[in-house]
Amino acid sequence: MPNPSEQSSCLVLENFIGGKFVPCRTHIDSYDPSVGEVYCRVPDSGAPEVEAAVAAAKEAFPGWSARSPEQRAQVLNKLADLLDANVEEFAQAESRDQGKTVTFARTVDIPRSAYNFHFFASSLLHHTNDCSQTDHMGCLHYTIRCPVGVAGLISPWNLPLYLLTWKIAPAIAAGNTVVAKPSEMTSVTAWMMCKLMQQAGVPPGVVNIVFGTGPKAGDALVSHPDVPLVSFTGSTATAQCITERSAPYCKKLSLELGGKNPAIIFADADLDRCIETTVRSSFSNQGEICLCTSRIYVEGSIYSEFLERFVAAAKKWKTGAPSDPGNDNGALISKEHLEKVRSFVALAKSEGGTVHCGEGVDQLHLPERNAKGYFMPATVISGISDSSRVMQEEIFGPVTCVSPFDSEEEAVSKGNGVRYGLAATVWSQDVGKVHRMARKIQAGLVWTNCWLVRDLNLPFGGMKNSGVGREGGKDSYHFFTEVKTVTVKH
Ligand code: NAD
Repeated sequence: MPNPSEQSSCLVLENFIGGKFVPCRTHIDSYDPSVGEVYCRVPDSGAPEVEAAVAAAKEAFPGWSARSPEQRAQVLNKLADLLDANVEEFAQAESRDQGKTVTFARTVDIPRSAYNFHFFASSLLHHTNDCSQTDHMGCLHYTIRCPVGVAGLISPWNLPLYLLTWKIAPAIAAGNTVVAKPSEMTSVTAWMMCKLMQQAGVPPGVVNIVFGTGPKAGDALVSHPDVPLVSFTGSTATAQCITERSAPYCKKLSLELGGKNPAIIFADADLDRCIETTVRSSFSNQGEICLCTSRIYVEGSIYSEFLERFVAAAKKWKTGAPSDPGNDNGALISKEHLEKVRSFVALAKSEGGTVHCGEGVDQLHLPERNAKGYFMPATVISGISDSSRVMQEEIFGPVTCVSPFDSEEEAVSKGNGVRYGLAATVWSQDVGKVHRMARKIQAGLVWTNCWLVRDLNLPFGGMKNSGVGREGGKDSYHFFTEVKTVTVKH
């Protein structure tokens, strides 16, 4: 397999169907965002390729689902070990494909991708079913869980392998077979993993990967009658489309969607820790994480101090060549996305907002090689009304807005005043206050005095327009299985 991070000629990917690499007749260009040039051609699959993949997955299902949990866990662990052994190669490739720094890919994306397989291999061995008795009726009741069949998995471009494996691992652990479609903008590490799946002994057809665009390959998958379950991570707009297209088949859906996540900072917060973490939560991975903070509400009495210190810290967040270990951020995913993110900064300015640092204020000093890359510095804005599109819509870039509040009630109302409900952070040293806030904030995940600390056993997901369903140890197992209640009269 050629090493994509070193490849100078154009890399051409193939679909992975029935355990084999299958060429596709037509392709889509894929860019290296840090230089703004095409470096890879991704299969432009459609209904025929999806049909072949679903057929392979159906054929593999009886054998795979009949294996014992221990046997399935063994295969998942082997794949995890292989990913762990190839971290560097995968990190370089993920960085080139997505624009993120190699450091981020090496320390976050790829280790977590491997851990997803280890985690679900272990989790699979620890599920128990429910049992109850109604003695007055002479009955014993218990539940059993069965895999659903062929799972359709669709993932986005921001954490490409991390989020794809977060779906593949629980789906196959539970005994399903899968047809996955990664984002057409970041397909390379999924394709590289196919080789490792062969080495790990994943039986042919258990994992099929079809590359291509959403409206073509993705649509063929979500509207396929033999795919009873779809797990999707991506934008709210696409989720609405998938919901409509799958509705005639009453499919089981898990939807992990966008966010407009608030940080609520009270005057009694540990400001040193809060500022360090809130810079990270706002700008990590170029702000291209669904959990990134994009609205910062600060209690009035510390607002000026916070803003000054936060802007100073944001100015130190370095953006540049993804391969340079001194940089915190690399390039945004595409030219179109960069323009969209910039347009929000322009809108903020036109509405009278102040841009304290970043876009239009600070100059990036990029190496010549990266002059045409899609870079944008960490940007902090204040003075924007809560009803502005800048405060209401997901920007998904290195942009965050700061605004004051005066009371706990106002903080809750501002925090909840958007259509999203994915994640929030609350900063205070008052234990009672953080528990109260956690109950009142409309978000599937509330981090108090920290950010992005995860226990994969516990539910992950959003409320309101941020999603339907939850993922994580037991939740993923429940999603990827059908439960039956059995009653035995004795
Ligand atoms: P997107 O919705 O444009 O695309 C996501 C995936 O859906 C891609 O693979 C795409 O090809 C596919 N797709 C697009 N149209 C489709 C269609 N009509 N039918 C079937 N599939 C289709 O999202 P994106 O731009 O790739 O990712 C960014 C979004 O993902 C942001 O909104 C972000 O918040 C969200 N996200 C959410 C989470 C979470 O866990 N909640 C995690 C990461 C990203």
